[in-house]
Amino acid sequence: MTRCIYCQEAKPAEAFQRTEHVLPQSFGTFRNNLTLTIVCDSCNQHFGDNVELALARDTYEGHSRFEYGVRNPEEFRPFGRNSRIILRIGEGEFAGAYAYREYCQEADDVVLRPLPQVGFFMVALGKYEYFLLDEIPTERELQEKGFDCWHPAAIRGLAIDEGQLRDKLGEKGITFRYGGEVLPPQRSESVLCELEGRIDRTIFRAIAKIAFSYLAYWQRESFVNESAFDPLRRYIRYDEKPGYKLVDIRQEAILADEPIAGRRRLGHLITINWAQNGVSIISQVSLFNWVTYCVSLARDYPGERRDIRRGNFFDIANREILELGAR
Ligand SMILES: [Zn+2]
Repeated sequence: MTRCIYCQEAKPAEAFQRTEHVLPQSFGTFRNNLTLTIVCDSCNQHFGDNVELALARDTYEGHSRFEYGVRNPEEFRPFGRNSRIILRIGEGEFAGAYAYREYCQEADDVVLRPLPQVGFFMVALGKYEYFLLDEIPTERELQEKGFDCWHPAAIRGLAIDEGQLRDKLGEKGITFRYGGEVLPPQRSESVLCELEGRIDRTIFRAIAKIAFSYLAYWQRESFVNESAFDPLRRYIRYDEKPGYKLVDIRQEAILADEPIAGRRRLGHLITINWAQNGVSIISQVSLFNWVTYCVSLARDYPGERRDIRRGNFFDIANREILELGAR
């Protein structure tokens, strides 16, 4: 009998047929990949169908898989308008407009499409400010913001037809005269995107799982089955939240020699260490070396202080997993 490190049930060997990857395979395949055989099939299935799916399809890091060639464009599956991440076009004619990514068959590429929204020309900005349909201000609020109602194309609707636009604006007491169409850009490489992200608990659970599976890979089973890790495992498996923060976000890069902004090495990073207080165990996870997630593996670990320090860099270009040296 083997005890699953997530559900903590003791099960026979038949219940452990699948290989659990520390880093989900949707984020790349690597030589000598880190895998586990102590996660039962039902937990494995649950993670694949829930937390990992959201991580892969609905995060900036997930979308980055296509930019960096980890995935082919035709595999792109958007979460659509309810997506947790909304992009904003960074420059050009439609700067500031809201967009989402979608696979386009004709282009055989992942393209940007505008979300239904309305832009109002602002005098002070010298450009349009865009609002999603459920966020359109009233006419009075618009005037306070500096809306230029005398501009020849003062109002611009995107991904919305004339009738809908008239209705939506009518609800806010705004009338307009239809002036013709403008076409928004489609190709993703033609515009620089800014990000408006929303990272929710499903994503945090997926990140926490990477951290805990990584610990389980390097440590003995008896250690990761200790009760000090129960709050984390129950959060990952059952979405139960303890009274303290398990996952946090940092802007600093994990690798000490890298600047906060600018181009970072292409790959994923996972580290484990004691926290500065010397009694808690923490992990840092960064996918595509972008945002750094800090995961509390065990808060105030009561057992003996052992050497747990570890770090690996998953090099995407060479498909290799490298050991990180001490800082
Ligand atoms: Zn299990």
